[in-house]
Amino acid sequence: MRNVIIAGNWKMYKDLQGTTELINGLRSQLTTLPPRVTVVVCPPFTSLALASTLLKGSPIRLGAQNMSQHDEGAFTGEISWNMLRSAGCEYVILGHSERRQYYGEKDEVINAKAKKAIASSLKPILCVGETLAEREAGVTDRVITTQVRGVLSGLTKAEMSSVVIAYEPVWAIGTGKTATPAQAQEVHQLIRKLVSQIHDWPLAEQTVIQYGGSVKPDNAAELLSQNDIDGALVGGACLKPDSFASIINAVK
Ligand code: PEP
Repeated sequence: MRNVIIAGNWKMYKDLQGTTELINGLRSQLTTLPPRVTVVVCPPFTSLALASTLLKGSPIRLGAQNMSQHDEGAFTGEISWNMLRSAGCEYVILGHSERRQYYGEKDEVINAKAKKAIASSLKPILCVGETLAEREAGVTDRVITTQVRGVLSGLTKAEMSSVVIAYEPVWAIGTGKTATPAQAQEVHQLIRKLVSQIHDWPLAEQTVIQYGGSVKPDNAAELLSQNDIDGALVGGACLKPDSFASIINAVK
């Protein structure tokens, strides 16, 4: 049985007051978690240290939404692994489609960030996903293959044990359009096959592959019941304690 990881990507929402309210709301709803389930919240950088303090004694883990591939230096506006670690992070989302789309991040840089994260004992959540135009052109498999091979390039089997992969079809993110469970399962199966080709089946069988894209309380159970879907990366629905908790409680 693989572990299940439900992560909430807060994106650019919640100031310090909003962070306090959301974390306190989640803490009161999630005192214990189902076995095998890890819950991660990924607030904006400015809220990480506060969130870490508020989460003390809770089973909820902390993650960030991005990280530099550099250790330190003259990189205005960037955040290093050390800053994330000292703020209490264990996870970091890398290569989210909004980073790819608006900030030009390519597989190569996402791969460099992944290597830096793992070397720094942070667990990267590596995002891949096709656009609507790519799906309609019938090139989803090709796009996913290129992205998966690109972001995992050069990672050893030992390094892979801390990697989480998130399949997030770009057309389903923040749009209310969810991939059908069958569509998602098909791509998850492909991703697991790719991991087995790069490494081997035992490792592929253990790799956690999350689905992301308009996951809501009313569609979570069906998505999460698919054989190769091992959790969710949740945007909009993670901003309210009730809806995020319902998604977590949908894990069977
Ligand atoms: C995301 O931000 O990764 C995401 C999947 O957003 P949403 O759930 O709002 O589609």
